[in-house]
Amino acid sequence: MTLKKLSKLLKTENEKLNLLSSGDIEKLESKHFVDCEAVLELWKAEDGDSIIDLGTGGGLPGLVLAISEKKMNFSLLDSTEKKIKSIKSMVKALGLKNVKTLLGRCEVFAQSPKSREKFDIGTARALAPLPTLLELAAGFIKPEGYFYAWKGENHKEELELAENAMNHLGMKLLKIHKYKMPEKQTRYILEFQKTKKLDMMYPRKDGVPLKSPL
Ligand code: SAH
Repeated sequence: MTLKKLSKLLKTENEKLNLLSSGDIEKLESKHFVDCEAVLELWKAEDGDSIIDLGTGGGLPGLVLAISEKKMNFSLLDSTEKKIKSIKSMVKALGLKNVKTLLGRCEVFAQSPKSREKFDIGTARALAPLPTLLELAAGFIKPEGYFYAWKGENHKEELELAENAMNHLGMKLLKIHKYKMPEKQTRYILEFQKTKKLDMMYPRKDGVPLKSPL
């Protein structure tokens, strides 16, 4: 029921913000929500866990997951003010008590004592290529915590390029979860575990992880 309501709200917000393309918004429930929910079957999250969704955009997967998992605490981070505003209004309309928002860059929040290594789990869909993504994510996750990255067929090449980043950041690939979408498209969720405390030099300054990936 709440997912239906989220779908309605997102469609209205999308008219203002272009969170998703017009083709994508038509498939909001059948494609995007299904894609986001795929993690629920496989992740190592437990009640009481704190979860951060990086580059959440219009709240994907963060809002979808927060609706399903009311006993977990979600922080939804994005650097675009209008998107965070929009999420705040949807959270209010949905009456969600387990969602906080963070407006700003991953590079900055990950170096702030309030959010550094404070999360049991991180998620990210369509934020950045893997070497960059791992650097943006590693600072938020507690040692031993997990990170879930949504990827398409290109994950194989991205993984090859990310070998150096995985070693430096202590982000170990545990498993590649493969699943089929209702329209038969194959999608992947890469599961990482953080194996050690992160060196304070990571993430590097704003923009550097994307411009000069590890
Ligand atoms: N996860 C959503 C949105 C993906 S678009 C989805 O699957 O639909 C990527 C989003 O990441 C954008 O909203 C952009 O504002 C945000 N973003 C990009 N780089 C960022 C950074 N370094 N820190 C925080 N947010 C970032």
